[in-house]
Amino acid sequence: MTVELTFSIIKPDATRRNLTGAVNQKLEAAGLRIVAQKRAHLTEAQAKAFYGVHAARPFYADLVKFMTSGPVVLQVLEGENAVLKNREVMGATNPANAEPGTIRKEFAESIEANSVHGSDSLENAKTEIAFFFAETEIVG
Ligand code: ADP
Ligand code: MG
Repeated sequence: MTVELTFSIIKPDATRRNLTGAVNQKLEAAGLRIVAQKRAHLTEAQAKAFYGVHAARPFYADLVKFMTSGPVVLQVLEGENAVLKNREVMGATNPANAEPGTIRKEFAESIEANSVHGSDSLENAKTEIAFFFAETEIVG
């Protein structure tokens, strides 16, 4: 049994449509516990740095614009195998390829406006959590 922490963002397309609770319900139903959560409007510098790994991709500039287009909800999720579990409940990057019942299948508007971010490895989860949260803000 491995209890992990992972990092999640409810993206601007979802907050705009008032879907924070609906997304959280999916996360909790999957057995993930929201142990930290705050609403924020990312600055361009924050979005650029957070998605720095994608800087060379053709969609990078648009992605930064999208992620700063409205408020987001930053979250730390706790659970058994939380990193993989969250990726499963999120669904595929492109909602057209996402499994039924997943957050992206039900809520995403497009491959870009796909409602949620989730860390793709335990190592990246640690880096991403530290980017936005102090340890004292995480209450397990
Ligand atoms: P994921 O969020 O599933 O881990 P990636 O890390 O590959 O996906 O991409 C980061 C984000 O960039 C995606 O969630 C999506 O918002 C955006 N994105 C990815 N691929 C594309 C694309 N081909 N066109 C537009 N936006 C994209
Ligand atoms: Mg990713």
